[in-house]
Order: sequence, then structure tokens, then C-alpha cells
Amino acid sequence: MSIAMPAPDAETLAKRDRIVAAMQAIVPGEGVITDADELRPWESDGLTAYRQPPMLVVLPETVEQVSAILRWCQGEGVRVVPRGSGTSLSGGALPLADAVLLGMGKFKKVLDIDYEDRVVVVQPGVTNLAITQAVEGRGFYYAPDPSSQIACSIGGNVAENSGGVHCLKYGLTTNNVLGVELVLMDGEVVRLGGRHLDPAGLDLLGVVVGSEGLLGVVTEVTVRILPKPETARAVLVGFPDAEQAGACVAQIIAEGIIPAGMEMMDRPAIHAAEAFVNVGYPLDVGALLIVEVDGPAAECDHLIEEIVRIADANGAVTTRISRDEAERVAFWAGRKAAFPAVGRISPDYYCMDGTIPRRRLPEVLRRMEELSQQYGLGVANVFHAGDGNLHPLILYDANVPGELDRAEEFGNDILRLCVEVGGVLTGEHGVGIEKRDLMPEMFSEEDLKQQQRVKCAFDPKLLLNPGKVFPTLHRCAELGRMHVHHGALPHPELPRF
Ligand SMILES: Cc1cc2nc3c(=O)[nH]c(=O)nc-3n(C[C@H](O)[C@H](O)[C@H](O)COP(=O)(O)OP(=O)(O)OC[C@H]3O[C@@H](n4cnc5c(N)ncnc54)[C@H](O)[C@@H]3O)c2cc1C
Repeated sequence: MSIAMPAPDAETLAKRDRIVAAMQAIVPGEGVITDADELRPWESDGLTAYRQPPMLVVLPETVEQVSAILRWCQGEGVRVVPRGSGTSLSGGALPLADAVLLGMGKFKKVLDIDYEDRVVVVQPGVTNLAITQAVEGRGFYYAPDPSSQIACSIGGNVAENSGGVHCLKYGLTTNNVLGVELVLMDGEVVRLGGRHLDPAGLDLLGVVVGSEGLLGVVTEVTVRILPKPETARAVLVGFPDAEQAGACVAQIIAEGIIPAGMEMMDRPAIHAAEAFVNVGYPLDVGALLIVEVDGPAAECDHLIEEIVRIADANGAVTTRISRDEAERVAFWAGRKAAFPAVGRISPDYYCMDGTIPRRRLPEVLRRMEELSQQYGLGVANVFHAGDGNLHPLILYDANVPGELDRAEEFGNDILRLCVEVGGVLTGEHGVGIEKRDLMPEMFSEEDLKQQQRVKCAFDPKLLLNPGKVFPTLHRCAELGRMHVHHGALPHPELPRF
């Protein structure tokens, strides 16, 4: 529990009743939650080790209400934390004791489906999967598919630039979002992008996707949809160890094949998943690859042949090719259930998310094993091998004093290792609070200040989702002209965490 949040502002806490009254005036009825017991369910997101009941929850239903809430809060200097479905694994939606938690769950409408332009316009609380469900009857789907897609909202996906198994071929959220409507902290409603590719001017849409609720509140999203591929087939390949599996992944990509998905599991993850879903994963291998190809049947047949050839050349010991749709789905069932499966073998686990250059995979796995010995904690690896995005699950027991701290330190070392080998701190789960204090491992102070200048352009009073992403809080006014003399920071009274 090493991550500190900004201290609550006593002045804001003292005027809570007035804030509640103002919010109730904007969102009448049951849209404001203030009772301590009713606030409990909102106290954390997917990073459940960190909990903080919010000062109050507001659940607006219209863009006008969102705009009025933000304008009022800006006028009164009240902090706001936007929230979608609360599945963030990096603590992005963690409430603050002195902030309004702005839940976007009532924005549930699919506003427009345009098959000719192949776009769908939705409100931000619509779940990722619901977009596909809205168009699948006409043979279309929305490609980015986070494992949480049944629950996570498209607004949260935009804020985190979420990914999934099929993002190797079809791109992350940023590659599939064409436009957003965004409400700024001063209440202004802006539109970025539209129904077409490449909006004119600076790529502000690119800035907003992945901005983790720090720049504005997304109130509408336009995504593109794709026709469902004619065929999809998967190959399950077992290797004696992760090194050979990693070499196979590298060669598949190097030969110019971009599978629809390419996922790897190590021995502990294979055993946990097989015990959970019984789909026939080989238990005598050190690493398992699931490689999926999609497109016209003849192309899939050819690509499968090529993948099997490459796998054999890299020492594959078992190979199964899906014979029908049921078998393809079964191959994925274990992978998709890997997180809950690992939850059955350990009281708690901590899911990390870092990205490395693919070719460094064997070395990183080896060093992760050494760290596992050093910290005395097990680790199960499930990852998007095709794009080098690792998801080590660190196994610990929160009831054993000190184990959570050890798990966090182990996780931090894994992320440092990702950066050291030329990778990045996050692949898809965002920085949130989880990786906030590691940002200086990757960015210089000047880099971080430049990023914060962008934040200041959107939210000059730093009221939106504070305490997330930036390891040091600078006042916007001091950015660019802060001189530190003999280590003495100006404005020492300002919270810097
Ligand atoms: C079991 C499980 C599996 C997961 N698998 C994946 C995966 O495969 N790939 C992946 O990328 N992620 C995965 N995640 C992480 C998570 O689901 C994603 O980050 C998701 O995009 C979060 O969406 P949400 O609606 O739950 O957002 P929340 O958790 O509510 O919020 C996340 C962030 O978005 C901001 N936000 C939310 N809504 C808005 C809005 N309307 N406007 C502005 N900011 C907003 C919040 O302030 C916060 O910073 C997984 C999580 C779980 C629990």
C-alpha cells in the first residue's frame, strides 16, 4: 500500500452539504448518492487493494447535466473523478475523499448505426460488447475486445486506450475511434473528429484517447465497425519452454504474418486455466501459444500451414488446429478465463501490464523468474505475445502481513525491467495510480512537464481526476518557470506526491 493520494482539501470537505445541494439541483431525483453505506460499492475500481469512499456520487443522464456539474465544480474548486464501469486495473477511477465521483453509467444509448459509413455512435456508458451485439445481426462487429468487454464501458475504453486479443491485427481503441464529444472542466462541450478518418488540424482526438479522465468527460463516442471475417481458425501450439514459444512469435511476425490474435500462457497459467475450464490444454508443456487467423477460408488455410511450419522449426511439441467454430471457441475459453482461473489457485493476485519489444521476451521471462525467487512470490504469465504486452499475475495473500507490499515491489521491478529492455510501463491498462510513481523511470522531468502542460491547457485548475498519472503535481502557473535552487522547491506548501 505504498501509493499516496493527494490530501483531502479541508475547505471542500467543510462545504459538503452545499455541494450536495448544488448537485441535487442539477441532477434531481435519485441521481445523487450521499449515504455512507450506499457509497461503499463505489469505493474502488478493479485495483481493489486501494479503497476510498467518494465524498458523493453523481449520476447524470444528459450532456447538459454533465456540463453544469463540471462548470459548478470548477467555479467552486471541487475535484471530479469520472467513472465508467469501474473495471480499471490501474486505479484510474479510484475516488478521492474530497471529490465528486461522476458516474457515467446512465449514458447507455446506442445513438446511431450507419452501415453505409460503417460507424456507430454511442453514449459512453454503453459496454464494449454491446456495440458488437448491436450490429452483429448484420454481420458487423467492433474489433477492440478487452477481456472485460462484457462490463467495461466504451467511455472507459477511450480513456484507457484499451486493447484486447484482436488488437494485434485491428488496432487498439485509438485506431477504431473516429470521434468524441467531450465536456471540459469549464462546462464547454467540444467535438473532436467525426465520422471520417483523419480529422483536420492537430490530432486532439489522439490526445484525448488514452488521457485517463484527466482532460475532459467523454459524453459521446463514434467508432468504426468492421464486417465479420468470413472465417476464423486457431492453432494451439505447445513448446517445452517460453524461450522457444517467444522465438516462434518473433518469426511469425518477421515473416510478415499478422495473426488476428497471438497469445501466450506459461506453465502455471496453463495448469490454472485447464483446471478451470477443461478444454484439453496440454499439461506437459512449458508454454502454450494460441494463434488465430481470420479472413477468406483459402487465406486462413495457407496461413495456418505457414504458422505450423514456423512452430515446428522452433521446437513445437504439440499442435492442434481448430476443426470447427466450437473448437476455436474452446481454445480461447481457457485464455479468456485465465484471470479467474488464477484466482482459484491463489487468495489474491496482482495483474501487471507492461510492454516490451517482442524479441526480448525470453530474457524478460527469465529475469521475471529470478525476481519471483527473490520476492518469494509465484507468478503466472498470460500475455498478448504478438504485441509484446505482458500480463504477469503476481500471486500473494493479502492476509499475510507484508505480502501486498512485496507483490507491489515485485510488480514495480517487472515494470522497470520492461522499460530497461526498451519497452513501456503500460500496454493497455493505463497509468492511473498504479504506475504513477514509476513515470520518472520512463520520462524525464522535462518530458513530464510537457505532458502536464497539455493537461493544463484542458484543465488549468487541475480539478479533473487529480492524483492519477502524474507523479508530481505542479501548479499550472509554475510550469515552465520553476527554478530549483540547491534542491529547495518553490511553493513547498503545494502538495507534490
Ligand atoms: C477481468 C478484467 C479483465 C480486463 N481485461 C482487459 C483487457 O483485456 N484489455 C484492456 O485494455 N483492459 C482490460 N481490463 C481493464 C479495464 O476493463 C479497461 O481499462 C476498461 O477500459 C475500463 O473501462 P471502465 O468503463 O470500467 O472504466 P473505469 O474503470 O470506470 O475508468 C477507467 C478510467 O477511465 C476514466 N473514464 C471512464 N469513463 C470516462 C468518461 N466517460 N470520460 C472520461 N473519462 C472516463 C476514469 O476516470 C478512469 O481514469 C480488464 C479489467 C478486468 C477487471
